[in-house]
Amino acid sequence: MRLIRSIPELRVLLKTMKGRGERVGLVPTMGYLHSGHEALIRQCRSRCDYVVVSVFINPLQFGPNEDFHRYPHDLDRDQTLCLEHGVEIMFMPEPKEMYSTGFSTFVDPGSMGNVLCGSYRQGHFRGVTTVVAKLLNTIQPDLAFFGQKDLQQSAIIRRMVWDLNIPVELVVIPTVRDDDGLALSSRNSFLSPEERCRALCISKALFEAESAFRGGVRLASEIINSAKNLLTELDELQYCELVDALTLDSIEGQIGRLVGLCVAGKIGNTRLIDNVLLSEADDPTRQLSLVGIPE
Ligand code: AMP
Repeated sequence: MRLIRSIPELRVLLKTMKGRGERVGLVPTMGYLHSGHEALIRQCRSRCDYVVVSVFINPLQFGPNEDFHRYPHDLDRDQTLCLEHGVEIMFMPEPKEMYSTGFSTFVDPGSMGNVLCGSYRQGHFRGVTTVVAKLLNTIQPDLAFFGQKDLQQSAIIRRMVWDLNIPVELVVIPTVRDDDGLALSSRNSFLSPEERCRALCISKALFEAESAFRGGVRLASEIINSAKNLLTELDELQYCELVDALTLDSIEGQIGRLVGLCVAGKIGNTRLIDNVLLSEADDPTRQLSLVGIPE
């Protein structure tokens, strides 16, 4: 496995691989890897000849009062894990490698970046689209892998790839959870045992909504209100909303084809997000992927 910090060095290496006709896959992360990231790496490994994992805590996607400076990291552990999964390249640029002096060009995700998390985290998705566009341009992978856990992010990136004709196929994989239902997140490490216990109300509310949907409930307000009734353990509920999983349009009235029930809230100082897909499809997560390269 090669650890690479410089863009030119990465480019030279990838050029050789692509020259040999190898299929390159990218798993973008902010590090402090857990089983959710591992599932992405495993998928990438099974579908690509050459696996690149980026580890970059992107300053651009954190607001001034957010947790950029205390975001958890453990590069040694991340490296061990990537080695175990047969990753070929870990790309770990310093911020100045990604944003050199005078950097002034950004990718604006438009209105999709202003709803849900976007209304609580100003500029967050502009930071996400900008860094992901830079990674896709730099690495030019054949496939890139993202988690359903960040449903809004996956929808925005799919839109960006389509709108900007970026030649990459996107694969979205289901959320990996602890046995008790809590969605894995690097930020879970901030939770005390008592807080972690309270955080379980999020997955419980989402699973209840899923089973109500399976039982035939289709009225958006009924699903949302029952979920909200179970979210009382949160110190702050930021949103509990039903949206079209591809466009992020808010759903009112009857639930349509592929809908996400999305929740964000705070336990102490830790902000957590989670979602479930409500759909009659057998494998709804697969429908979040962008199969084939945009024309
Ligand atoms: P992060 O390191 O949090 O920026 O996440 C990097 C990638 O891992 C993103 O595509 C996330 O959606 C994905 N991811 C994070 N948590 C999970 C999880 N519990 N299950 C599946 N994918 C995840």
